[in-house]
Amino acid sequence: MLTYRTARHGGALHKVPAPGTSLRCSACGFTTPGSREEQATFVCKNPDCGWSGNADWNAARNILHLYRMGHALTPAAGRAVVRRPRGVKPATAR
Ligand SMILES: [Zn+2]
Repeated sequence: MLTYRTARHGGALHKVPAPGTSLRCSACGFTTPGSREEQATFVCKNPDCGWSGNADWNAARNILHLYRMGHALTPAAGRAVVRRPRGVKPATAR
């Protein structure tokens, strides 16, 4: 569904590797099994952080982080990657 929608609207769907995203603290990056004390609640085990919140929201933040990291590490055609305004499609996009 998501692939269909983004294709239809001319956007780009990026898939990022997801392992560990539910175990990583999106606030400090600390990753350890057991941070997810309940299905819906993430509690960071880093004593200097202690962030807690919705586990799915935390995982989504981690996936977004991976997506942004991937962009930073993959320059387009050797040029600097410039953040484009919303709604402006790159020339190569269909
Ligand atoms: Zn943390």
